[in-house]
Amino acid sequence: MEFQKNDYVIVTIEDIGHDGEGIGKVDGFTLFIKDAVIGDVVEAKIMKSKKHYAYARLEKVITPSPFRIEPKCALHKQCGGCQIQAMSYEKQLQFKEAKIRNNLIRIGGFAPEFVDKVMEPIVGMEEPFRYRNKAQYPIGTDKEGNPIAGFYAGRTHSIIANTDCYLGVEENKEILEIILDYMKKNKVSAYDETTGKGLVRHVLIRKGFTSGELMVCLVVNDKGKKNAADFNAGRKGMYLPAQDKLVEALQLLPGMTSISVSINAENTNVIMGKEVHTIWGEDRIRDTIHVRDTVNGFALTEKGITFSISPLSFYQVNPVQTEKLYSLALAYAGLTGKETVWDLYCGIGTISLFLAGDAKQVYGVEIVPQAIGDAKKNAENNGITNAEFFVGKAEEVLPEKYEKEGIFADVIVVDPPRKGCDEACLATMLKMQPKRIVYVSCDSATLARDLKILSDGGYELKKVRGVDQFGHTVHVEVATYLEKKKKPISYREEEIPECGCIYG
Ligand code: SAH
Repeated sequence: MEFQKNDYVIVTIEDIGHDGEGIGKVDGFTLFIKDAVIGDVVEAKIMKSKKHYAYARLEKVITPSPFRIEPKCALHKQCGGCQIQAMSYEKQLQFKEAKIRNNLIRIGGFAPEFVDKVMEPIVGMEEPFRYRNKAQYPIGTDKEGNPIAGFYAGRTHSIIANTDCYLGVEENKEILEIILDYMKKNKVSAYDETTGKGLVRHVLIRKGFTSGELMVCLVVNDKGKKNAADFNAGRKGMYLPAQDKLVEALQLLPGMTSISVSINAENTNVIMGKEVHTIWGEDRIRDTIHVRDTVNGFALTEKGITFSISPLSFYQVNPVQTEKLYSLALAYAGLTGKETVWDLYCGIGTISLFLAGDAKQVYGVEIVPQAIGDAKKNAENNGITNAEFFVGKAEEVLPEKYEKEGIFADVIVVDPPRKGCDEACLATMLKMQPKRIVYVSCDSATLARDLKILSDGGYELKKVRGVDQFGHTVHVEVATYLEKKKKPISYREEEIPECGCIYG
């Protein structure tokens, strides 16, 4: 049976796709339906039909699934940021766990029974809203010409006004309203992607959850910088028209610590520009992360490290779950104080500095120079002297150091971006023969691909555990560790029974 565009079908949703879409079957024909929840019976309209499958649009939920809930955000469908907000949080966790498991089997080539043996239950969030410490709002103009802040509708680049996303902190709204009000009163233009004209492109807001410190960074078009210099009669350190007015209003907010401007004149999807200028307050905000005792159900322990974070540096977006993730990574590293450890893709040195407490020496590698600047500062501020950091690509720094300096590692920790580790990086890790490899990942598909390479290269996957850092979205973080396989035991040794008695 083949469907035509605009046909209506009634279908039971039996599965969840990787992007959270509902999957159902009609006469062996597979339908992918966005916003349909597993267990729903829905009416859907065929939008695009292929030979064996079709994409359909949800028209009506006929019988709601027991897992369907009323989403908190009325805009969740238009936004697309929370792909699974209409699914109960418990079911979301099951979906994420199944996603990790399937990828390990399908992409990693691990046997299902083996995966079930090494997988530990996913670590969920206690409060799955207001968990993000970072927000990046695009700025645009509405039909009346007023500046707006919001989100891009679906996969488009048109902005829907909304200053209060429920995943972010409550302060976001207040900050955005101050900025929009300042723009309106001072006739500051919003950037227009199609013409490349206009000044304000994005607003980045970060909050240190433990410190209460707030950071605001306005991303502006370079052309605006020149205008701003005119507006401000060439005064140094001025990047915005009537900049003082904006600073005056923002600095009154409790916790405001850093206000900066980032210049981005490129016509790309990259939000931040490479240049950042602090226009008020400090260059960085602080946040403290504690290690948790993974054996006793992630109970909080005393050990805390305070991190300084600058606008361009990566910092985990969910600090509450990050404590659990790092604690797992630390437990998986199994350090005794004697080890030399490499932390690849180290960002501002967060995992590195926790490792340093239990290791002899830690080396961190990271591509963003500002992040390495932060990492060094963080080591110093926390009195940590056994951590050294290098700027560069992990796949270049590691082979170079290995080939030229013959570096060594007892344990290697990696925490790459979504695309996973580069092959050259994995190959060098295998050559270095560490006792353990801890792999922290934000994409279980590339993780599975890389784990296959590592296990083919002589490492045994020991534990895998999901940590939900991104409630209501389809993303999931995973912590894993592998151990170097023991050399195959010889025929003679095999003959000796376990009890040591030669008579068996
Ligand atoms: N472990 C850190 C950062 C993880 S995010 C933390 O938990 O905070 C991944 C980091 O890898 C980012 O900081 C990114 O800038 C960096 N990165 C991306 N590609 C890289 C590469 N090829 N080599 C080294 N670092 C890279």
